[in-house]
Amino acid sequence: MVTLLLLACHSSRMGVRGWTRVGWLTRSPSRPTGAASLVSLFSQSSTESNIINTTESLLEQQQQTEEQRQLSKEERKKRKELAKEKRRNFIGMAKAVDRGQFATTYQPGGVDGMTFTAKSGLPDRSRPFTVLGIESSCDDTGAAIVRSDGVILGEALASQADIHEVWGGVVPGLAKTAHEENLDRVIDLALRNAGMSLAEVDAIGVTVGPGLEICLRVGCKRAQELAIEANKPFVGIHHLEAHILMARLEEPSLQFPFLALLVSGGHCQILKCLGIGRYSILGGTTDDSLGEAYDKIARLLKLPVGGGGGPAVEALAKNGNATAIPLTVPLLRRKDCDFSYSGLKTNVRRAAEQLAVDRGLNSVDDLGESDRADLAASFQNTAIIHLEQRLERAMKLVEGDGITTLALVGGVAANKEIRRRLDALCQKLQWSMVVPPPRLCTDQGAMSAWAAVERLKVGSSDDPTNQEVYARYPFAFETKERDESVE
Ligand code: ADP
Ligand code: MG
Repeated sequence: MVTLLLLACHSSRMGVRGWTRVGWLTRSPSRPTGAASLVSLFSQSSTESNIINTTESLLEQQQQTEEQRQLSKEERKKRKELAKEKRRNFIGMAKAVDRGQFATTYQPGGVDGMTFTAKSGLPDRSRPFTVLGIESSCDDTGAAIVRSDGVILGEALASQADIHEVWGGVVPGLAKTAHEENLDRVIDLALRNAGMSLAEVDAIGVTVGPGLEICLRVGCKRAQELAIEANKPFVGIHHLEAHILMARLEEPSLQFPFLALLVSGGHCQILKCLGIGRYSILGGTTDDSLGEAYDKIARLLKLPVGGGGGPAVEALAKNGNATAIPLTVPLLRRKDCDFSYSGLKTNVRRAAEQLAVDRGLNSVDDLGESDRADLAASFQNTAIIHLEQRLERAMKLVEGDGITTLALVGGVAANKEIRRRLDALCQKLQWSMVVPPPRLCTDQGAMSAWAAVERLKVGSSDDPTNQEVYARYPFAFETKERDESVE
């Protein structure tokens, strides 16, 4: 009995079929798997009660199927719509559950819905002003001094790639300790590179979410202390808005509204950017972000992952054949702007395992350089086709609003092949594309400083004596607009 139960537990990992079969043998046969298997199993253990139970359960099952059949077409359609609606509302919020923080941050308000408040004052905006920006949301400690006309006066970045490399991903505790050890040195170096003292900067901006809470806290606490000590205006930065606004640092003539494709380690979204603090999500990922997919493929191919596996996969893909491994483009039948990269990652893993079998190798780890390059190139090609398809749909959707500029932002936007392919898509649709230089796509201090400049320019600052950090931080005003506009 014990053995059978253990077997049952084990087989449940293999799926429902394994579970029901073993479960049937140890318990009364009230879990039919289908008439044929029931009858054959039944004839081996024939007690009368078994016959009755089996017949009853078969009847019960038949009845259930009949009920299901009777569900009117309309009702089924309604249920499907409801499920779809639920899923849509979930997307975009998946990585940022609103616990009220959105309402208490810098989102514009007032009668016109466009007014900001300056909770810690503003610098003199009649002349160029400077901001010290601090970033510690994940595994890089960054600081920079940026002037309000977009000039980066000085910056410094302490990468933790070596620390996390051994673990195959970011370890929050280690990241926090490294931020604590490096932050002051990084701030000093950025100031020194700018040839300025803290007293000379006009304001301080720091990332307050989303990110690893214990890491965010390190940067935020220090920035609060500095702002209070030096009596400077203080701005709590939304990391995703900071990524998007880097496009306006790169191209000062870029005016709202524009479309943004934000692809990073934590996010994969298409957004309509209407103004500071005013964004609307057209599509988000239903599972993994693109950066996450790159990182997982890097791990599968045993490439360096410290500081993100994307660059290593991109480098390997250059030597491979992008059509050598047939992979399925995700969500082909869904006509919306959402993404899904989890299935593609599994698709690549299975293809790699099959390739190892075909080559008579023990495991994926034994694959040769050329096979690994083909896998990397085919993954990258399929991932980009998925990007192109969703993006083209979103571009066509917003053209009616007079939007014809795409901002490509976030860590993954550093990828040269993605830049090249999306630029070609923009040219085909007669759009223009703005993309920051690769080093400003990934996390660094200038993004916090520039986002603070943008916030201060519209008259928005936060209270340094009362600033929270948010691991999850709702970003755009929901998906309603998207729901109406999607085909
Ligand atoms: P976060 O997601 O923590 O905000 P970033 O915005 O810096 O961090 O994005 C990091 C992600 O970008 C990682 O998943 C990394 O693999 C990915 N990435 C960085 N450079 C490239 C590249 N050249 N190609 C593909 N992905 C890249
Ligand atoms: Mg980032």
